[in-house]
Amino acid sequence: METILSVNNISKRYGKIQAVDDLSLEVKRGQVFGILGPNGSGKTTTLSIILELIKSNKGNFHWFGEPPSKESRKRIGSVIESPNFYPYLSPVNNLKIVAEIKDFDYADIERVLKLTGLYERRNSRFKTFSFGMKQRLAVASALLGNPDVMILDEPTNGLDPQGIAHIRELILLIASQGTTIIIASHLLDEVQKICTHVAVLDKGRKLFDGKVSEVLAVSDSFELSALNIETLKQTVALHPAFVSLIPIGEMILVYFKEDIQPAELNQFFFQKDVILSHLSERKRSLEQHFLELLEDNK
Ligand code: ATP
Repeated sequence: METILSVNNISKRYGKIQAVDDLSLEVKRGQVFGILGPNGSGKTTTLSIILELIKSNKGNFHWFGEPPSKESRKRIGSVIESPNFYPYLSPVNNLKIVAEIKDFDYADIERVLKLTGLYERRNSRFKTFSFGMKQRLAVASALLGNPDVMILDEPTNGLDPQGIAHIRELILLIASQGTTIIIASHLLDEVQKICTHVAVLDKGRKLFDGKVSEVLAVSDSFELSALNIETLKQTVALHPAFVSLIPIGEMILVYFKEDIQPAELNQFFFQKDVILSHLSERKRSLEQHFLELLEDNK
């Protein structure tokens, strides 16, 4: 799979603070890549470096296999700061200004407003928008020109539960259209819900990275897949010990309220005419793993 971003041993120091410490990452096309870490772990600094907003002291990075360039920048959309637009202008007029600055066609404005669910409000003034709508407009703005990669820094910060759900659904929708996503978050739950891959940072250092599905691991949870994923979801909900499920790409991660034997689970589906194409027991949750790693790093 094509490497979208490679970060090679970057470090950034602010006086005595080592904000990023010899960090290397690799993001492949189609991944929803989470950079997960507590406050101050270096997430924003890392994103600022790969967006060339600040310079690292050491190391380098490549976009699409090349050193960063004007061309690569046009292929990257980002939402790094809280949404900032002209308050008395409509989203359409605000996006026209962004399109002018970035040299993108106005024709894309309708598409991004529809995608972010703002089309109905396209003529309202920005200042009348809820914070969630403002955040979605920032995403719309970053989507102009249909970038290959979308970078989001804590996109659900400050949103109410409905706003959080909207943004998460939007990110998954953008990802489903083939856009690679890089998202910084301090929320495990967020990474579990939307990311395919994760790098865990603490004090500027990468503690761990890998597939979210491999680190999401508890003794009472299973990763399952079947040809018909909808039937699988409906059937698993009938299991007496079923608690909840999280879709992860082509699979689902299912939590049970008690320990289940893999053979027993397989038989349960077989009896209901569902043939599993994948069944894998999970050992520890990402949360446990994350806490252990932070503990080890002290
Ligand atoms: P948060 O989620 O709180 O934003 P973060 O993981 O994004 O945290 P950074 O904002 O990258 O972390 O900060 C990493 C470290 O670098 C912190 O200790 C922070 O105080 C420090 N830092 C960041 N920017 C600056 C700056 N401009 N000057 C001095 N120190 C800075």
